Amino acid sequence: MSSVQPVESNTPRKYQLFIDGQWVDAESGKTFTTPNPATGENLAEVSEADKADIDKAVSAARRAFEGKWSKMSARDRGRILYKLSKLIEEHSSELAALETADNGKPIKESTYVDLPQVAENFEYFAGWATKIEGETIPVPGQMFNYTLREPVGVCGQIIPWNFPLLMAAWKLAPALAAGNTVVLKPAEQTPVTAMELGKLIQEAGFPEGVVNIVPGYGETAGAALAAHPGIDKIAFTGSTEVGKLIARAAAENLTKVSLELGGKAPNIVFADADMDQAVNGAMMGIFFNQGQVCCAGSRLFVEEKIKGEFLDRLIEKASRINVGDPMDKGTHMGPQVSEEQLNRIKSYVDVAQKEGATMLAGGESPQLAGAFQKGYFFQPTIFSDVNNQMRVAQEEIFGPVVSVITFRDEDDLIRQANDTIYGLSAGIWTRDITRAHRFAKEIKAGVVWINTFNMFNAASPFGGYKQSGYGREMGKHALEMYTHVKSVWVDLSGRPIGWFGK
Ligand code: ADP
Repeated sequence: MSSVQPVESNTPRKYQLFIDGQWVDAESGKTFTTPNPATGENLAEVSEADKADIDKAVSAARRAFEGKWSKMSARDRGRILYKLSKLIEEHSSELAALETADNGKPIKESTYVDLPQVAENFEYFAGWATKIEGETIPVPGQMFNYTLREPVGVCGQIIPWNFPLLMAAWKLAPALAAGNTVVLKPAEQTPVTAMELGKLIQEAGFPEGVVNIVPGYGETAGAALAAHPGIDKIAFTGSTEVGKLIARAAAENLTKVSLELGGKAPNIVFADADMDQAVNGAMMGIFFNQGQVCCAGSRLFVEEKIKGEFLDRLIEKASRINVGDPMDKGTHMGPQVSEEQLNRIKSYVDVAQKEGATMLAGGESPQLAGAFQKGYFFQPTIFSDVNNQMRVAQEEIFGPVVSVITFRDEDDLIRQANDTIYGLSAGIWTRDITRAHRFAKEIKAGVVWINTFNMFNAASPFGGYKQSGYGREMGKHALEMYTHVKSVWVDLSGRPIGWFGK
């Protein structure tokens, strides 16, 4: 089992758990199926990990951490990571198609956004493996003090379904570069590409047990991993609600935690903005990946005096979004990931209307033909006359639903923009550079985009303020989450400590 099984293969897809370098059934023998959200048809049958399997995976990761992996040179570790990035590039078209089949995202996105960034993250962190260094500290007296940067050990990583392979890359790459071993739990909705990644991990030459991949449900496999006393760190990306459960479970063993959680990002359009740029930026902010993005610009703040013109243009552009077959290169929006998510979005449309918001576009599922009638599609949806206190302005919908809120001036804007429990990201569209940078300082968010939105790079940190979580992914800051700093003191005087007398 070395290369990626193409999506159009007629062989029914079956995946076992990847533990200690072996493909094994779950201890319980149980499996679960994952549907293609565009059609509702089964895509794959996957072994279902539970507590016993998590125990096995954690033990394997511990053996690998104490064995071959810690004895391997940083250079070799980096070379294996680099090889993995090359293997991903070689197989990127099959992986992109599988990502689309399992998640529903348009093939244009999985091909040109997800897969290139997956490879980029492994490549970037491959370079870091040989550059994780300690420091010497200028302490007084006849003393030499230096630090060692060491891996934290066995890491549990729990990832969501919105960017399945990319979230695996964000988590695995820095952990492995720093010399940790990993037990990765993909989301139950989208396990397929993580399992294919397991095959490439084998092919790249990682020693057995360095990476273990255990698909299963959150309440069982995920909870068992978060509460496991044998892990040294837990990293989670997902909802704020589950993030709190993870932090509580981790507190029991004082396991190190990093959390990348929900958001309700303000995306702000001032009257002096380039209108074309801002309209396109508003669309990118909320309709990319069907709105299933934690940093989505779901609160669209528009300066009062341009509201009419701006909304006309936004509605017109949104009406030209192609919603449909995600495998079609011309599709802009595929289905939502699951029926559960679709229903959640529909319920928020009801909430918005009850709260008095005005629906300007969308609000329902499109009429599609053939196999796609059973898919979980939803139209791009725009609400205006929203005020920042409404539930649709405060709660994360995680779908293609934007709430338009107006503001009068900068003070009014900052107050409203920061009036949220979240603080993941923010966007601002203006030609006034002093205002843009003032905003960047004032907004309580981990990422600010000025005249752009949804920009990412493996070298640039990403993470939240407030209830959007803690810790930073990507860039050198990610390594801080996966390393301990050890301080070493050496006496250079050769004399006894005189404190208690000679
Ligand atoms: P969503 O609500 O958007 O599906 P979640 O935060 O529930 O997002 O899921 C993100 C990840 O967290 C998934 O891998 C899921 O299986 C996992 N998960 C869900 N509930 C728990 C839990 N109680 N403990 C640990 N992991 C969980």
